[in-house]
Formats: sequence, structure tokens, C-alpha cells
Amino acid sequence: MTGDYITFSAGHLNVPNQPIIPYIEGDGIGPEIWQAARPVFDAAVKATFKGQKRVAWWGIGAGETAFKQTGSWLPDDTLKALKQAHVGIKGPLTTPVGTGHRSINVKLRQALDLYVCVRPIQYYPGTPSPLKHPENVNMVVFRENTEDIYAGIEYEYQTAALKDFLAKTKQLAKVRFPETSNFGIKPISKEGSQRFVAAAIDYTLSHGRHKITLVHKGNIMKYTEGAFKNWGYEIASENYADKVFTKQVWQQLKATESLDAANKALKQAQAQGKIYIDDIIADNFFQQALIDPKQFDVIATCNLNGDYISDDLAAEVGGIGIAPSANINYQTGYGLFEATHGTAPEFVGQNKLNPTSLILSGAMMFDYLGWPEVSLHIRAAVAKAIEHKQVTWDFAQKIADAHELSTSDYGNYLVQLI
Ligand code: NAD
Repeated sequence: MTGDYITFSAGHLNVPNQPIIPYIEGDGIGPEIWQAARPVFDAAVKATFKGQKRVAWWGIGAGETAFKQTGSWLPDDTLKALKQAHVGIKGPLTTPVGTGHRSINVKLRQALDLYVCVRPIQYYPGTPSPLKHPENVNMVVFRENTEDIYAGIEYEYQTAALKDFLAKTKQLAKVRFPETSNFGIKPISKEGSQRFVAAAIDYTLSHGRHKITLVHKGNIMKYTEGAFKNWGYEIASENYADKVFTKQVWQQLKATESLDAANKALKQAQAQGKIYIDDIIADNFFQQALIDPKQFDVIATCNLNGDYISDDLAAEVGGIGIAPSANINYQTGYGLFEATHGTAPEFVGQNKLNPTSLILSGAMMFDYLGWPEVSLHIRAAVAKAIEHKQVTWDFAQKIADAHELSTSDYGNYLVQLI
């Protein structure tokens, strides 16, 4: 590995011609999809820079594979490497359900304070979809990545301290079966919500998008998700007053003047290039996103909602086999790009599943590095492969007359297209 580290100063990444980029192959199907993806990345870099620039890949470990080799699920050296390099990419990692250690993915996001998870939901023509008009789906999900129930504060019913506290504060009477209830705590903070919504606004402005919808369940969880929404509106009106128009302003105008006046002000703001920020309750969002996806653009939401929403929307445009993901801290520059799906244990060793999620996550990484031509090559190859019906098993079974390729052959096919 000969290369130089990416550095971060004054809010910008400084990317050398041979950046050292650590990768974690991951567990389960991780090595299969990584081995298909890496040649695609190298081919796209070569096609763009004709040998003037290249990636110095650096294999590092985490998850089950690392545990078997080192006795640690997340070796200190791995965290050190990711911090030193600023930008990395990873396959999926195993998390046992119900027992055992906490998710290594969550630990990584928290250790690097990767507070934004960006998941673009883009339709590639020819992709199998349950929708009649999947071309109407074009959204970017911003999922808060460090708070919410993912903080992992949970108590089993045998734990007395929390129950005693609830009894003392007269809350225990609200619990239907207090003797056997387990409890989970959902921290949502003002700082966490505001840095996150600010990042969504910056992204929307810099990517030529027009609207942000705050998705929450604030009608039930008033002090967590309701507060998330309020703090989101607050940072928008305090720090971006000249760049946004909010639903709160629209409602105020409607109440104090008229519906016409409110709509006119909104139209005027949009004509001036301002982005519109509104909000919606999560359950309504799910049905609206199916019935009329065109109305949504950038979605900003709390951690758990974001997890559900991004898989749900991914299903509208081909499933988690194709949906990419980026975990970013815009204040330190740390970025960890990863496949949206898990380790798919029942498919391991079959060379069968779709590496596109990881491949398109790589495209997001090259955009983040400021190498957008590389991403263009990658996305164009994916679009062509789907158009030519040269796809992996998950798509092949749903596309008439498709030619089914193995994971590795699909990777090779993309390389040829680049
Ligand atoms: P999963 O995403 O691994 O698989 C669910 C289903 O999605 C699979 O059965 C398959 O039908 C489909 N699928 C997954 N990857 C695909 C691909 N590349 N191409 C086509 N179809 C694909 O979810 P799971 O079975 O719930 O979880 C398995 C393990 O993965 C668990 O240990 C879980 O904790 C972990 N996980 C890790 C991550 C991560 O590393 N970011 C994310 C989700 C789940």
C-alpha cells in the first residue's frame, strides 16, 4: 500500500493523488460483494485519471472475521485507521439478535460520531419494482445516526433502579404490566437534532434539491420526536432565514392573513430558490410515499424511523441490494460508506447476491472525495447493466428475459462497461 492520508482542514477534505482508503470486507456475503466491487472502483478511477490518480486500498478488520483472528469485534487499530484516513468503506457486519454484543455498525457510527446517514433512493430504468411508476421516486433519506434507541440503554424487568425511579415519580402506574415490563430509553438532544437538520439543509442547498420533510412521531413521543421536529424548525429559521421557507411560516400566514396569502408567499420563496421545509407524522409518511412519492425530496428523520424508511423506500426502487449509504460527520470530515443490507447469511458462498449497494456506496464515496467523474463512470455502468438486463439473481428472477450473472461476473461486466 503506497499512498498518502486524506486530511481535513477548514471544513474541507484534502485528497492526495493516491489516497489511502481503508476497507472492511465484512462478514457473510461481505467478501463476495467487496471482491466484485473493488475492480469496478479501480476501473472507474483509471478511466477518469488515466493512471495519474489511484486509490491505495488498505484492508482492515471488524466483525466476526476480526473476532476470529484477533479476539476483538472492533480492534482499536481499526478505529485508529479510520480516523487517520478520514474516509473508509465497508461491507456488512454480523450482529446477533437478542443476546451477545451490541451492533459493531452502531459502535463504529458512535465511535466516529458519524451523525448523518445519507441514503439516496434513486430509480434506475429497468429495475424491478412493485410500483407502477417507480420513476417518480427520487428522494434522499437523512437518518440521524448517533441518538435514539440506538444509544442502547435498555433495562430488563429484574432491574430495580429504573422501576424504583418510575414508582417514585408516579410514572409506573402508566405501565400496563409493571412487574414484567422491560424498558428502553430514547435520547434525542437539541444539539444532536440541530447539527443533523443543519446538515440536511446544507446538503439540500448544495445539491440543487428543493424541499426537506421532517418525518417524526411527535404526536406520541412529544419530548423526543416532537422536540426533534421543533428543534429542526428552530435551526432552520434561526440560521438559514434567507434560504428557507417553513411550513410554520406558511401556517402563521394562513392563520393571520389567508390561505391565498400563505400560498403566494410560498410560491414567491420557491421562485427565489428557497427550500421549503415541512413535516409529517411517520405513519402517514409511509402511505404517502407509496401513493404519491413525487411530493418528497429530502427526508430528515430520527435514527429508528430512518432505518425503517430507508429499507421501505429502497424496496420501491429495487431493494436493499441496490441502495447505497454514507455515514458522515461533516465537522470532522470522517466518512464511512457502506452497503445498506446485512450479511445475508443464508446466501454465503453462493456468489449470487447483488454487489450494487456497495458499488453505489463507493460512487457516493468518490463524490465525497471530490472525484465526481469516477462516480459518473460507476453509475453509468450500473444503469447500462440493468438496461441490458445483465443482472444478479435478485433482479433476474423479476425481469423478463434477464441474463443472470454471478456476483463476480456482474462485477466483471461492469468493469467492461467502464
Ligand atoms: P440482510 O440484509 O442480511 O438480508 C435480508 C434479505 O435481504 C436477504 O435474505 C436477501 O433476500 C436480501 N438481501 C440482502 N443483501 C442482498 C444483496 N446484496 N442482494 C440482494 N438481496 C439482498 O438482513 P438480515 O438477514 O436481517 O440480517 C443478517 C445479519 O446482518 C444480522 O447479523 C444483522 O444484524 C446484520 N446487518 C448488518 C448490517 C450492516 O452491516 N450495516 C445491516 C443490516 C443487517
